Amino acid sequence: MRLVIFGPQGAGKGTQGSLISEEWGIPAISTGDIFRWSIAQGTDLGGDVKVYVDNGDLVPDRLTVRLVRDRLAQEDTASGWLLDGFPRNIGQAEALDRLSADLDASLDAALLLEVPEDVSLHRILGRRVCSSCGRNYHVDVPPKEDSVCDACGGEVVERSDDNDKEAIRKRLRTYYDETAPLADFYEEHGLLRRIDGKGSPGAIFERIKRDLKRVSHR
Ligand code: ADP
Ligand code: ZN
Repeated sequence: MRLVIFGPQGAGKGTQGSLISEEWGIPAISTGDIFRWSIAQGTDLGGDVKVYVDNGDLVPDRLTVRLVRDRLAQEDTASGWLLDGFPRNIGQAEALDRLSADLDASLDAALLLEVPEDVSLHRILGRRVCSSCGRNYHVDVPPKEDSVCDACGGEVVERSDDNDKEAIRKRLRTYYDETAPLADFYEEHGLLRRIDGKGSPGAIFERIKRDLKRVSHR
C-alpha cells in the first residue's frame, strides 16, 4: 500500500500515520520529523533546513525532493509507504509522480484529513510530542505520567516550531495557499479520499480503514 496523507497543521496526520503504519506494516515517513531530527542531530541537512523550519517556511523543493527520493530507495519501503508532509505543493506532487514512475511504485490513494480551522488551531496550540519516539500528545490528552512518554519513557515536550504563534499562522497560510490545491490535483488523478478528521483518534482511524478497504492496490 502506497499512500500520502495531507491536511492542515493539527489535523492529526502524525497520529493517524502511526496507526496506518502499524495496521499495514509500512513505514510512515514524515518529512517534518526527518527535518526536525536532522536539525537536532546537527547533520548537514539539518544545517541547510534550520532557517526555513524555524521560520515556518517551506524547505526548498530541491532539498525536500532529494530527501524523499533517498528515503524511498531504502529497503523497508518494499511493502509500501505512507508519506506525511510530502507532497506539500503541486511541484512536489509532480516530482512524486516522476519518482513513483522511476521506482515502478505508483500511489494507491491520497488521504485528505479535513478539520475546520478552529479545531486545527486548538490542536496545534496544545500539541506535545515525545522527543525520543515522536509519539503525539495534547494538553487535553497528556501521557499518564507528567511529561513521560507512555510508549517509550522519553521526555514529552512542546515542538520547537509550535511555540511561535507567528510561525504557526504562517504555516497555516502556506497550507491553504500551496498544499490545499493538492485536493484538486489528486481528484483529477482519481486518488483523492476525503476523511472527516473530527472526533477521537480511534474514530478517525476507523473511517480511514473503512475507506481504504475499497482501494485496490498492488
Ligand atoms: P506541520 O504540518 O505542523 O507544519 P511538519 O512536521 O509537517 O509540521 O513540518 C514542519 C516543517 O518542516 C515545515 O514548517 C517546513 O518548514 C518543513 N517541511 C516539512 N515537509 C516539507 C515539505 N514537503 N516541503 C517543504 N518543507 C517541508
Ligand atoms: Zn516516546
